[in-house]
Amino acid sequence: MESSLAPAAWPGVNSAMAKKLKTLGLDSAREALYYFPFRYEDFSLTKNIGDLEIGETVNLVVQIEMIKNKRSPRRRMNITEALVRDDSETLRIIWFNQPFLTRILKVGQSVSLSGRLSEDYAGPVMVSPAYEPYNGQSLHTQGLVPVYHLTAGLTPKQLRALIAKLLPLADQLPEWLPEETVKKYNLISHQEAIKQIHFPENEEKLQAAKNRLSFEELFTLRLKGYARRRLLASFKSHSVGFRADELSSWLETLPFIMTAGQKQALWEVIQDMEKTKPMLRLLQGDVGSGKTAVAMAAARQCVKSGAQAAIMAPTALLAKQHFNTCLDDFFTKDDFTIALLTSSSRLIRRGDKSLENLSKQALLKEIKEGKVDIIIGTHALIQKDVDFNNLALAVTDEQHRFGVEQRAALAVKGSKEVMPHLLAMTATPIPRSLALVLYGELDLSVIKDMPPGRRTVLTKIVEEEKRSAMYDFIKNQLKEGRQAFVICPLIDPSDKLGARSVKLEYEKLSKGSLVDYRVGMIHGRLSAKERDKVMEDMSSGLLDVLVATSIIEIGIDIPNASVMVIEDADRFGLAQLHQYRGRVGRSTHQSYCFLLSSATEPRTRGRLEVMAECSSGFILAEADLKFRGPGEAYGLAQSGWPELKMANYYDTKLLNLTKEAVDNLVTNDPNLDSHPNLKQYLKEEENKTITND
Ligand code: ADP
Ligand code: MG
Repeated sequence: MESSLAPAAWPGVNSAMAKKLKTLGLDSAREALYYFPFRYEDFSLTKNIGDLEIGETVNLVVQIEMIKNKRSPRRRMNITEALVRDDSETLRIIWFNQPFLTRILKVGQSVSLSGRLSEDYAGPVMVSPAYEPYNGQSLHTQGLVPVYHLTAGLTPKQLRALIAKLLPLADQLPEWLPEETVKKYNLISHQEAIKQIHFPENEEKLQAAKNRLSFEELFTLRLKGYARRRLLASFKSHSVGFRADELSSWLETLPFIMTAGQKQALWEVIQDMEKTKPMLRLLQGDVGSGKTAVAMAAARQCVKSGAQAAIMAPTALLAKQHFNTCLDDFFTKDDFTIALLTSSSRLIRRGDKSLENLSKQALLKEIKEGKVDIIIGTHALIQKDVDFNNLALAVTDEQHRFGVEQRAALAVKGSKEVMPHLLAMTATPIPRSLALVLYGELDLSVIKDMPPGRRTVLTKIVEEEKRSAMYDFIKNQLKEGRQAFVICPLIDPSDKLGARSVKLEYEKLSKGSLVDYRVGMIHGRLSAKERDKVMEDMSSGLLDVLVATSIIEIGIDIPNASVMVIEDADRFGLAQLHQYRGRVGRSTHQSYCFLLSSATEPRTRGRLEVMAECSSGFILAEADLKFRGPGEAYGLAQSGWPELKMANYYDTKLLNLTKEAVDNLVTNDPNLDSHPNLKQYLKEEENKTITND
């Protein structure tokens, strides 16, 4: 029997069925066991007909007294009418457009029916109940009945029957959690959980199964983080010496004074980088909290100690911006050589000489020979052909767009045994308990404060009839020298999607409401060069208004901008709206965010109202969760976080328990030597991640 759970094995499943299952992403019986229902039909109430009350959803076991098809007189519809009975009473049953039922359900036969009792002109009746022939056992109509996502050509009953047939194989699955963990946390066995999750005996057992499967999912994440941390910590790193006087005199050259939060984070970074093993640190701070300055300070420390630093941004636009910030704000007095490497730009600035449009070869050579101090780029930086000379620090900005594997790839760029210190920066608010599980390999620094003088961005939902008043308001801002963004969900107009587009808004604004101002547009279909030009024009104030798609979501810093208009705001998640809003209010100018939406559903309006009332990214993330539910919570889809099947990323209690469980385990047995099943499981999991990418 060993082979029945082997890869690609479908014991007892014919090839036509296997093909359908493949469209669900299932390649083997083993995978089918892990294809969990997304909900359950509750048919656990079983009653006699005589005891039924109108409106109840119940399961009945009955005999068919009469069954026949007829045509409905008015509509051309087939009606199957049946009379069923149990010991207590008879009941009418009606199905629509399923004439084949008279071939399946015969007079005298025992059937199990589940549905809701209603009433019509002729008295009590059950309309379109689920049914199955009954011989003492029921898959489809009794108890908690699993409901699976399906594919064309596969009926709920077929899939349920198939899984029921495969379910005994669950006994062959290994229990990979350590016995003491199972005991201590009151978990049911893995095998039992798989069985109960598909066909729960009752609500209590279903909860126990969910709990076990959630536990193991979070446990695995934490354990993987631990394994990665162990691996990464086995490398050596360049020890970056710290000179306090040098740092403080540089801090004085900055156009601002660092906040306490920035200083604290920088201090943690500096201490880490002094060590000869790699820093693994996540720097979290809300939009606008000034993470860049911390990264630049760290990069500068590295260069001063004779090594290189790399900064990786999620978009070319943002990389370019960091490049410019280095030159204009942070290293004005330093004689650094800084390179920009993206798919579209290859620049070097050495002192005040700049080399543009180098060949990629030439730039790579400069980097390799150590003639460049700071390298800024996109994921072009982690490609195979980029060799650093002495990379001491790798910073990833808004790294939630980069997966764990990419981070690791950058990590081993340095050399075989030496790897750079890692600093990952993110504005995505993650509760600490979650961060510990998701980024188990990282230490956490959080900037909690905002630069002084920042005013809350006043956020308003603008009704359509107030649109022209809004433009008047914007014009006043522009007259005062401020700038504005207008975000639209689409690039081109589309009737189907019914949302505003950059191109049309650009036309309307530049020829209509804002005709006296300089309006530009930017979207992903412009060439990188065109985009650079537009962004530069906006930065330098040659444009007053920029109509844009989500391309400016992350990181763009134009402190003079004070108005953010978001068209069809309901199309965006709260975290994304918060990112857009974070593009303004980046200076002492009072800033405004206007949310436009034609949506009327209370839920959608409610979401926008939360946005208008709340300015903290952390609180918004939690609100987003309430509105959308954990699986679809915004930011998750694009986060690069592993998708969870069962657990909930915001289940703080379970996150903490699983962390404790893993920590206890590895403290006693760092190599997992006394847990071969767990070791094996972890190995398989690691292989999975590699093949998935
Ligand atoms: P984020 O954390 O979102 O990446 P940035 O690093 O882009 O934020 O900083 C946002 C803006 O705030 C930038 O214009 C930056 O120059 C400015 N800034 C950063 N730190 C301070 C500070 N301590 N005081 C005043 N302004 C600051
Ligand atoms: Mg940033």
